[in-house]
Amino acid sequence: MLKASNLEVVYDDVVLALRGVSVQIPDGAIVALLGANGAGKSTLLRALTGLLDIHDGEITKGQVSLDDRSLNDVNPEKIVTAGVRQVLEGRRLFVELTVEENLKVGAHTARAEMAANLERVYDLFPKLADRRAQTAGYLSGGEQQMVAMGRALMSGPRYLLLDEPTLGLAPLMVEMIRDVIVTINEAGTGILLVEQNATMALSIARHGYVMENGRVVLDRPAAELLRNDDVREFYLGLHPGEDGRKSFREIKHYRRKKRWSA
Ligand code: ATP
Repeated sequence: MLKASNLEVVYDDVVLALRGVSVQIPDGAIVALLGANGAGKSTLLRALTGLLDIHDGEITKGQVSLDDRSLNDVNPEKIVTAGVRQVLEGRRLFVELTVEENLKVGAHTARAEMAANLERVYDLFPKLADRRAQTAGYLSGGEQQMVAMGRALMSGPRYLLLDEPTLGLAPLMVEMIRDVIVTINEAGTGILLVEQNATMALSIARHGYVMENGRVVLDRPAAELLRNDDVREFYLGLHPGEDGRKSFREIKHYRRKKRWSA
């Protein structure tokens, strides 16, 4: 089990980005993490993968742990070796390298399994097999996302943390990425899926968390979140407010007022 418990994170010694956040990713589960911009989702992923240091961030309270072993002071490379791997938002490929070279970069902690993992990635993404010699910078957004995910799979992770993998992709490509996430999960990898596309994320997740202002404000089975009126209103846009998107808390407050005045 990969866990954050009562996590507090501060950037630059002053910006309080996470305030007592607890999340659990059980072995082999898909867990969705929702929240508006600035809610703290990327910060949580950085805390889980040891990447806070390079952003001048620090865990000031609480624990990140893998099977009850603390990861608080473990460096990012050792966290990858322990089986936790993140696919960063925005794909971040080496655009001048070929598809295959990009994939091989991802294998630096698992050289012995490189050939087998490469085969597994090409099985998952046959398109990448066709384009293995092509320069990554010339691929479409969806294909670049496949390379980014494939690169992370080259270390054979137990947990894959995905930061908005469908951002900016066409609907067909979103479906394809969704199916691939399910396939990766069915092969035994636990997934933490940060998504703006709440319908997609909750449709495949077992459990979901909603974050706002550095806190977890909802922590429920995914099916329950899909039925939750506030989530439907805010994330699924079923009843958009007159003056645009309100904060999740504003909607809750408004709905409570509505219920009281009814
Ligand atoms: P987004 O989807 O926009 O990335 P998010 O939910 O991932 O949003 P974070 O990026 O984790 O949110 O940001 C949480 C808070 O921490 C925000 O107030 C943000 O301004 C602040 N923050 C994030 N990164 C840094 C940083 N490197 N230095 C200082 N503050 C930061």
